[in-house]
Amino acid sequence: MTSVVSARSSQGSSAFSQSVKLRVKQIDGDRCWACHSESPQICHVIAQEDRQALLWEQLGLLDFAINSDTNAIPLCPTCHNEFDCALDPGFVLIPTDLQFFIEFELKDRQRRKTQAESGVISKRAVPSPEEYKRYQIDKGVVAPDAIGGQYLPFFLKKYLHPDLPFDVTEHYSKPKEWHGAPLACVRRCIVILGSARLRSLPTQTRLELERLRNLYFLDEEEGLPPSHNGFLDTETQAPPGNKTKKRQLDDTTPDKFPSPKKHEDTQQGLDKHSYSKGATTFCPILQKEMPAYWSLGPDVSTEEAVRRFAPVITQAPESVT
Ligand SMILES: [Zn+2]
Repeated sequence: MTSVVSARSSQGSSAFSQSVKLRVKQIDGDRCWACHSESPQICHVIAQEDRQALLWEQLGLLDFAINSDTNAIPLCPTCHNEFDCALDPGFVLIPTDLQFFIEFELKDRQRRKTQAESGVISKRAVPSPEEYKRYQIDKGVVAPDAIGGQYLPFFLKKYLHPDLPFDVTEHYSKPKEWHGAPLACVRRCIVILGSARLRSLPTQTRLELERLRNLYFLDEEEGLPPSHNGFLDTETQAPPGNKTKKRQLDDTTPDKFPSPKKHEDTQQGLDKHSYSKGATTFCPILQKEMPAYWSLGPDVSTEEAVRRFAPVITQAPESVT
């Protein structure tokens, strides 16, 4: 699978190819997904300009290329504009079964925690388009031949047909299928938790979105120890056969020869927070130096580097559904 990073860096652009556009129209139809207007544009769900895309990828929340069809949806220019209005979006699509995502994350947390206790830190798994669809097929929410899981078109502004003497928003606010990556939609949904239009969201939806946001971005939920969900969710494991190097997450025993920097951080309780004070790193998305959030800063000893990062492994998570 092409990563977001490599897709951006290797192509220099995340615009959709013609074949992707055609495929999306074949799957979703040649009308605006939101308001059914003709001649839609093929739009990004995770925006090309999304400055958090890389962070979401690092957190294991985004596992598809920005320019892939799984990140595409047909929208008319009006809905596209409201969807992309970053500071005041007027339209989003919301997975109709947010509880599925909450339970998926809770199970995946347990999986990561269990693996961490045996010395392995593995990457988060999130529901794929197929997993969400399959879940809803099993529940009878969508038909076996559905193009994808079900989403609610949600209008935060009444921008559709403003000249009409009546509000047509309700007519278009009916759940429908979409083929793409549900986490791309969740990215947009979480943005509206900061909107002054938040009150238009049903209470249950808001509570579920808030819960999901907390599970994705906070360590403390559900009793997980801090550091398990670090900014660099890099897969690490102690060298095979070297049992003495494996550690529990709550093991704060200092190394035999701790570096002065490490010792200082441990004393301040910062050892596991992957934050290197004052350090910067070059961000290829922002094209500038940014504060560095990393597990190994320049003051970390070689022994520590070997212990934590060699060999780097990828634990392909099993389905947790
Ligand atoms: Zn539209």
